[in-house]
Parts: sequence; structure tokens; C-alpha cells
Amino acid sequence: MFDIAKEVEYQGKILPSTHPQNVLVRSISDNVMKAMKDKGDGLNWEVVVVDKPEDCNACCYPGGKIVVYTGILKHLTSDAEIAAVIGHEFGHGVARHGAESVTSLVWLGFLRFILKRFVMSFIANAMLKIFLKLPLSRRMEKEADYIGMMLMASAGYDPRVAPKVFEKLEKLMGDESSIGEFLSTHPSGKKRAQLLSQPKVMAKATRLYSANMREQRLSQSNNNDNTTSNSLAMIDLLQNLFLTVLVNHPSPW
Ligand SMILES: [Zn+2]
Repeated sequence: MFDIAKEVEYQGKILPSTHPQNVLVRSISDNVMKAMKDKGDGLNWEVVVVDKPEDCNACCYPGGKIVVYTGILKHLTSDAEIAAVIGHEFGHGVARHGAESVTSLVWLGFLRFILKRFVMSFIANAMLKIFLKLPLSRRMEKEADYIGMMLMASAGYDPRVAPKVFEKLEKLMGDESSIGEFLSTHPSGKKRAQLLSQPKVMAKATRLYSANMREQRLSQSNNNDNTTSNSLAMIDLLQNLFLTVLVNHPSPW
């Protein structure tokens, strides 16, 4: 079983559980995990923050081990932005991309062996990378983006933040040569933002977000006698109106 704490790369760099950044990331992760319900069954989730200010990255290892680097956290300015990045990593876990990558590597190794019999080694490697490895990786990234945005919305974080985060990270990548690998095998930030902002996709995420908000209000109203059913009905009415507007008009993002 993969153990993050035992990895040489991370030794001495995992922030303690009482560190404010760790507390914040864990609290957001807990909300996302609650929203996942049984989708995360069978995985042994663990989220750690690793102190690597130069690494603008986050990743999910097979089995549900998620690592978030301080280098990416310094660029994220709200809980919703952190939820977008964490949601993406949870998305990889939920979709079992780790296991899929391992299977793909076995096939790629086999294909490389065959190709090398007909073309030179570097050509075989380039062909596999261009025609199989990158498309596969990008498909997984798109899946993780989609699942991640639905998860963050279900957990109560505004999903409209997600497309903006991926565009922001791409801009940072252009500004800093040492930005890390977070986007290297991903579709472009603009493309990711476009896919997530599609009216149908965003409307679905917004409905999940609204449902979470409604649930929170109801649980608050149970504890607060001052909240009247009339005001709840009014908020519901406004939310339904908002959703209608969102579905009927293309997303402004
Ligand atoms: Zn990813």
C-alpha cells in the first residue's frame, strides 16, 4: 500500500496537522468527501499538504492519496479556488485514473516493443506519446475537471470559480518557468474553462450548488426559530429564477 509519509520525496516536508494551510485544505477536503457519498468507496482517502513553495502542483496517487503543494496554494485566494483544485484531484481518484494509467502503461510497453521492431526507438517513443499517451492523459484531465466541478458544487463551493482557476493557473504557467507539472499534460486552461462553462454543464453544477445551499439553510433554520418558512420560500424562488436564466442564456464566462 502506497504511504505518502514514507516517500523520500516528501519526508520532512509534510505540513503538520495543526498547520493553518493543512487545516484549511483538510476542512475543504472533508466537505468534498461528504459530498462524494458512496462514490469514493473502496479508496483509502488521505490528503496532505507538502511544503514545496516552488511547485505549483497537486496530484492524486492510486488508492486516493492526494498531495497538494504549498506552491499552488499561494496562488489560490479563496476556499472555492482550493476546492476546484482539490475537486479535480478527487475526480482522478473517483474515476480510478491511477489504475487506468497502470493498465495503459502495460499496453504502451507492449506497443513500444512491437513498434521498435519496425522503426527507430526515438520515433517509436514519439509516436506513442503523440498518438496515445497525451490524448489519454488529456481525456483523464477533462474527466477529472468535470467530476471535480460537480463535487465542489455538491460540497457547497461556487462552481463558477472552477473555469477561472484553470485559466489562472495556465497564465501563471506562462509567467513562471518553474511552475511545475500541474498543467503539462492537461488540455489548455482556455479549453478546460470552455468545457466547464458550457451552459448544460454549468447549469448542472449550479443546481448541485443550490441544493447544497438549500440543505444548509434548512439545517440552520432547524436551529434558528427566527428563520421563517416564508423567507426560505422566497430564496428558493430566487434560486429557481437564477437557474432558469442560466439555462436559457449562454454562460457569460
Ligand atoms: Zn489532473
